[in-house]
Amino acid sequence: MSTHDAVPGHAPSAPHPAPEASSGPLSTALAQLAGAVDMLGLDAGVHEMLATPRREVHVAVPLRRDDGSTVLFRGYRVQHNVSRGPGKGGLRYHPSVDIDEVRALAMWMTWKCAIVDLPYGGAKGGVTIDPREHSTAELERVTRRYTTEIKPVIGPSRDIMAPDMGTDEQTMAWVMDTYSVSEGYTIPGVVTGKPIAVGGSLGRATATSRGVVHSTKAALNEAGVDLAGASVAVQGFGKVGAHAATIFAQEGAHVVAVSDQYGGVRHPDGLDMEALTAHVAETGSVVGFDRADPISNTELLALEVDVLVPAAVEGVIDETTARDVRARFVVEGANGPTTGAGDAILAKNGVIVVPDVLANAGGVVVSYFEWVQANQAYWWTESEIAERLEHRMHSAYADVSALARREDVSLRDAALAIGVQRVAEAHEIRGLYP
Ligand code: GLU
Repeated sequence: MSTHDAVPGHAPSAPHPAPEASSGPLSTALAQLAGAVDMLGLDAGVHEMLATPRREVHVAVPLRRDDGSTVLFRGYRVQHNVSRGPGKGGLRYHPSVDIDEVRALAMWMTWKCAIVDLPYGGAKGGVTIDPREHSTAELERVTRRYTTEIKPVIGPSRDIMAPDMGTDEQTMAWVMDTYSVSEGYTIPGVVTGKPIAVGGSLGRATATSRGVVHSTKAALNEAGVDLAGASVAVQGFGKVGAHAATIFAQEGAHVVAVSDQYGGVRHPDGLDMEALTAHVAETGSVVGFDRADPISNTELLALEVDVLVPAAVEGVIDETTARDVRARFVVEGANGPTTGAGDAILAKNGVIVVPDVLANAGGVVVSYFEWVQANQAYWWTESEIAERLEHRMHSAYADVSALARREDVSLRDAALAIGVQRVAEAHEIRGLYP
């Protein structure tokens, strides 16, 4: 069945069908779009445009390894939509990266930026590589070559990169340097999530996690639940999960379990986040932390907690694991952690889901602040950034929750409807060229 068939009243008449996927993140993203199109009553032509990336670049990234041998990686940059402004989105280094995953992630960036009302479209990049198997020097060469290959389509007014899974502020510094050297002058606005020393913003490193906590607070408040004293389980202890767990604990919540790709740990009274962070810094994993009991990733998803935060990879809450979720709230720190089937089960069981495109938008909000500051060469204080982030997150949450109540739909359906509507409106006002 094509995506268009899923929308009542919209015939699949297009000569070039929109991308389809039978499974994986792209099928989830396309089904979500179809739902929003249906809710908004958009026509088939607009649906097809929104389902199809505006531009995709596929590149070969050859690497000379430290031992002198050569190996080739595949790389992608997908600009899903640029109706509201330049493409914006992270760069992922992971062995499972493929074009469909990058397409899905780029589409989610479009809705996310629109939901928090940033003047951006959506984009994403990826290289199919396991960064853990490469030296820093090799990762630098891969990054510089990838940047060179996609250089014609990026830039501070075209498409702005940021860190994602497997990349960090050092990666962004290499991208910025490669782009700048090639242009002949320093252009900090081409990436966000840079080190502070080369034009990064205060508060960017923890922004996604802060946004996760703000949106959790907003959802809990609405249900009359206090975050202080609430129990929280966090799956994923990377850039998003680790900071989120720490901030949750600072807010007085009990972080009763956390996990990473190697396994997890739990403590019914709440983990000592300071000691756990020190353990991770020393060993590279939460596993083996001796002031807690071991727990598997699957067991963590099934814990009876107030808040479950999936902050790792896509698709972990699916039709199998969703049945066991006993959390009252699922707050999606990761992009696409819940499949369509998983989402339906959570809804049936009365679990409130704060969707990724809202919950984890704090990162790109402070990316936007960083870009504004870099373009003006004028820097804000950390408290200005924190305040503006909090305001954006709460106002986006309020918009989404008001629509959800008015239309009696989930927060996800409401968030997607707002995002898709804003993009469709920009597209309509601009008109179709030629
Ligand atoms: N990679 C992050 C995300 O998925 C941040 C993107 C950005 O700041 O551009 O939202």
